[in-house]
Amino acid sequence: MCKICEQIETVKNFESPMEYIDTLKYIQKLVDSGKFQFRFLKYETDKVLNEDGKWVDDVITHKIECKTCGQIFNCTAITYRGGGSFEIED
Ligand SMILES: [Zn+2]
Repeated sequence: MCKICEQIETVKNFESPMEYIDTLKYIQKLVDSGKFQFRFLKYETDKVLNEDGKWVDDVITHKIECKTCGQIFNCTAITYRGGGSFEIED
């Protein structure tokens, strides 16, 4: 963990779909800043809802890696029942 990673605001449990969407926007910002890169993404951060406004998958995961220290953060939403988190990956 480096000083950049210490400032990352993690989310223990998504309380609402909006909180998850906001977290994805935050993740995209981190990548756009050039300090992080995607380690895993199946869907773009703004493509997790289809045209009908439905989730594209039952479980959606994004992983980002700090370019400075290599720490990985995992964002996973369990869309079919709600919940999920954005946390440091061990
Ligand atoms: Zn770091």
